[in-house]
Amino acid sequence: MTPAAAPRTRIVIVGAGFAGATCARRLERLLRPGEADVLLIDVHNFFVFTPLLVEAGIGSLEPRHVIVPIRQFLSRRTRFRMAEVTGVDVQAGRVLYHMMGEDEPRVAEYDHLVLATGSVTSLPPVPGLAEHGFEIKSLADAVGLRDRAIHMLERANVCADEAQRRALLHFIVVGANYSGVETAGEFNEFLRAGARQYRNLKPADVRVTVVERLPRILPAMPAGLAQYALRKLRAAGIDVRLETTVSRLAADHAVLSTGERLDAHTVVWAAGIAQNPLARVLPLPQDARGYLLCEPDGRVRGQQNVWAIGDTAVNPAPGGGVYPPTAQAAVRQGACLAQNIARVLRGRATKPFAFRDLGAVSAIGCRSAVADIMGIRLSGFAAWWVWRTIYLLKMPTLSRKARVMIDWTLELFFKREIVQLGLHARGLTPRGPVGDTQGDRAG
Ligand SMILES: Cc1cc2nc3c(=O)[nH]c(=O)nc-3n(C[C@H](O)[C@H](O)[C@H](O)COP(=O)(O)OP(=O)(O)OC[C@H]3O[C@@H](n4cnc5c(N)ncnc54)[C@H](O)[C@@H]3O)c2cc1C
Repeated sequence: MTPAAAPRTRIVIVGAGFAGATCARRLERLLRPGEADVLLIDVHNFFVFTPLLVEAGIGSLEPRHVIVPIRQFLSRRTRFRMAEVTGVDVQAGRVLYHMMGEDEPRVAEYDHLVLATGSVTSLPPVPGLAEHGFEIKSLADAVGLRDRAIHMLERANVCADEAQRRALLHFIVVGANYSGVETAGEFNEFLRAGARQYRNLKPADVRVTVVERLPRILPAMPAGLAQYALRKLRAAGIDVRLETTVSRLAADHAVLSTGERLDAHTVVWAAGIAQNPLARVLPLPQDARGYLLCEPDGRVRGQQNVWAIGDTAVNPAPGGGVYPPTAQAAVRQGACLAQNIARVLRGRATKPFAFRDLGAVSAIGCRSAVADIMGIRLSGFAAWWVWRTIYLLKMPTLSRKARVMIDWTLELFFKREIVQLGLHARGLTPRGPVGDTQGDRAG
């Protein structure tokens, strides 16, 4: 009789974003065949390469080209399930997940659980925000915002009333960190270039306002670069309001904390992130905002076999402080955690996560950016070129790199196409009086 094979260690990873997918990929390389069974679960069978998400929004890149297909990113050694995890029984070591279209949940038992569920946009209880606000977090958000922008151009083109027309073409972006600044800069350029393709519109009809609660933009960037970005945004015609926030939203206007009313039909909320709803309700130690508190090796505090990485976790960095919620940190935490899990499986001691932040780059529109990479500071076109080069190199898989490069090359020679893809319902339905019934201008 041959002896029964030892049961394989079961590793379940929830979330196949930057952190979870990297962890799974690194485990594929580190684990010997048969050493463990890795199950990765995510609602989507791709992850969004968020640094290029706004580019998909403005049509510089095809939306499909800013996502990374999981089944190409990983080999068949990792089992993947496209499903939503709805519960975790930490005592019993079980994960409950729902496959799309199935009524009954499925159960996955684990010996090690990795929580990599990311974050969601922070949406404070501002009246009107849930009904009228837009986000820029998912692929659907980016495509939806582009559809919204084009819809507004179409309506403004036939709107006889000048004030109404300007309100239709007024976009407010709340939050002036990386995604807010990039959204404002790029959509300002997109709308102004788009307006040129309409008979009754001119670029000056477009208005973009950035509203930021802090006294400066890009708080994580060196002050000099943030000042440069501010000057560039203003030179491009963007109205930047500092130490201000939005206190109320309606279909056709927003009210600022100063009491001022801005007539605008589109408000994009890009002011911070919040904990993922699943991770928030798990019986695990959390900080005041619900993020999972971890030990320096990635273990959730007080747990032997539950680990957390990426935006969902608070991972201490060497020398005090914590790693920031960025793709850069998520990828490197995913790789460090895979090594620690492999160490545990082989009876070795884990190591604390230790990596240096390489810096940050932010696009600000008009082929301009600011960059602070390992202490080297750049601004303007040079920084923008560095920004594109870095993300092209970072984009996983050769086929994705090729697609991105082709899109960028074609963009040099052809005008952007002002077409509504109509893939996302949000923002396409008229949401209130817009004044375009007063007379259809020939256009
Ligand atoms: C517009 C924008 C631009 C950005 N630009 C940059 C940048 O230039 N540089 C940078 O470093 N960072 C950038 N970031 C931040 C970066 O995207 C995040 O820090 C990073 O995605 C975090 O990685 P993660 O793996 O923790 O989460 P994510 O990448 O968000 O992955 C989480 C995954 O978990 C899945 N999931 C969540 N809940 C469940 C559930 N219940 N069941 C199953 N699956 C679930 C989600 O579907 C998702 O795929 C940007 C973010 C945005 C929104």
